[in-house]
Amino acid sequence: MRVQALPEKDMHESMDIYLCECSDRRCADPIGMTRPEYEAVPAVPVRFAIALDHENPEIDRVLIEKPRFATVESSMERGKDRSRQRSP
Ligand SMILES: [Zn+2]
Repeated sequence: MRVQALPEKDMHESMDIYLCECSDRRCADPIGMTRPEYEAVPAVPVRFAIALDHENPEIDRVLIEKPRFATVESSMERGKDRSRQRSP
């Protein structure tokens, strides 16, 4: 059976840049995430998308590790602004 091909080009180009949300408040490393990846993260308030190897083993538990970013669940809520808007 023939399955319709996914619009591969579209998938690659729909990637957005977000800022790392690791426990280092000064960290502003960009991470590339697609829309579905981004929307899957904030389902829980203590879940964050961070750059690879930015987890703090004492408070973060890595849930998902992708080539571009990792999703962690932290034992404490970050004081970061979660609106994810670009800084002025
Ligand atoms: Zn970071």
